Amino acid sequence: MEISVIWQQCLSLLREQLTEKVCDTWLVNLKVKFEHEKIQVIVSNRLVHDYIKNKYWDKIRQTLESLTGDIACELLVNNNPQLKLTTTKTDEHADTKNVVEASKVKSSITHAPVKNGSLNKEIIESLHHATKLNKIYTFDSLVKGNSNQLAYAIGLHVTQQPGNKNHNPLFIYGGVGLGKTHLMQAIGNEISKKNPKAKIRYLHANDYIQDVVKASMRQGFDELKKYYNGLDLLLMDDIQFIAGDKTKTQEEFFYTFNTLVDKNKQVIMTCDTYPKNINNLNERLISRFASGLTVEIQPPELEMRVAIIKCKAEQMKINLDNEVAFFIAQNIKSNVRELEGALNKVVYQAHFSGKGISLGIAKEALVDILAIENRNISIDDIQKTICDFYKIKLSDLLSAKRTQIIVKPRQIGMSLSKDLTQYSLPTIGTAFGGRDHTTVLHAQKTVSLLRKNDVKFEKEYNLLLQMLSS
Ligand code: ADP
Ligand code: MG
Repeated sequence: MEISVIWQQCLSLLREQLTEKVCDTWLVNLKVKFEHEKIQVIVSNRLVHDYIKNKYWDKIRQTLESLTGDIACELLVNNNPQLKLTTTKTDEHADTKNVVEASKVKSSITHAPVKNGSLNKEIIESLHHATKLNKIYTFDSLVKGNSNQLAYAIGLHVTQQPGNKNHNPLFIYGGVGLGKTHLMQAIGNEISKKNPKAKIRYLHANDYIQDVVKASMRQGFDELKKYYNGLDLLLMDDIQFIAGDKTKTQEEFFYTFNTLVDKNKQVIMTCDTYPKNINNLNERLISRFASGLTVEIQPPELEMRVAIIKCKAEQMKINLDNEVAFFIAQNIKSNVRELEGALNKVVYQAHFSGKGISLGIAKEALVDILAIENRNISIDDIQKTICDFYKIKLSDLLSAKRTQIIVKPRQIGMSLSKDLTQYSLPTIGTAFGGRDHTTVLHAQKTVSLLRKNDVKFEKEYNLLLQMLSS
């Protein structure tokens, strides 16, 4: 898979986390290269660099790492003007295949005017604007199966009669990564298609809290009310977030909610739980939330997981054998987001190993995940395996000794424990002779660095991983 494909995937994930506006304004025009075994994200100037670094880099890096199985990433300022031209043949640093050029997308960082050292006011203001619908979330791209059949059908029905009392509000709930946001946005996109003039607003509950806080700072509650009360469709994602909020958010939301529902304007919410189970939520809101229609999305069963993987592979224009799709679906049971992540890992591994996608590659790529999903590996198991492998005594492994012959296996053991079990850093530290969690963290970092820079070490570590997880 080319770096450009990875970057496009990263962008589509970031659109969800950081909003369309942020992505369109700041991220689509970044150049991305794979060089010196690192992913380099390149920005046009120092000011933009600092801004992105401060506000978005953590998310960008995490997303890239999750897509690539932890390949290191760095944010750089473009010191090579030729890099702007993807077609340049003279640029020896820029592998044209590797450079992502998102020229089709409208706004451009290079166009973002920098006046007197401060970023264009308009751009900053635009960042505070509404979160919009993400066009990739449609009914067509949402695979239907037992676990979401009812929610899917109701969703479609709502698009035919938005605001109808029978389904207003619509409350969609279920665990993480099961497609709540996708379905909610599919409804929004469909309504927008049918009625392009409809005033629609999709937003995460956290953004709403921020809006309320900002309004309270500048005493702008009237504006806030006017804006939200003027909508035709309000899509509020992860409503559980307003539950714990002590500010005026709940009161404001209650007001807006009632106004919209009374005017037969559709309100749709998603939540990780059933309305009555939301902690710290005002009773009035709980009963209002449950007053329309409530529908659950459940985890997909095997058949549906296979269908989802095939659908995602098709979107990525990747040819995936049934055998491989089945293997991934059989082993990743928790949720659809992880299913996507697993598929990405397999595709990535296939690309960078230079081999095609096969069952063997899939097993290799998912070795860490499979171990956690399928086996209850204990820290004891890991310690025993380490001691056998390096021919050292358990008492030494757990002792205070700091000779290299013990330190290395100990660090590997701690890192394996983090990779293969779900224990926390402090618990692992305690199990390894009462060490502090920062020691475990340090071990993890050391091991990860060695894995990247030392081929022999990487092989050794993979061998241990396989021994423990097979
Ligand atoms: P939630 O909001 O429930 O946490 P999301 O809607 O963000 O979950 O879904 C996580 C990812 O899984 C998204 O990329 C989404 O497109 C995908 N997804 C979830 N359910 C399905 C499905 N039934 N068909 C296709 N993709 C799905
Ligand atoms: Mg969501």
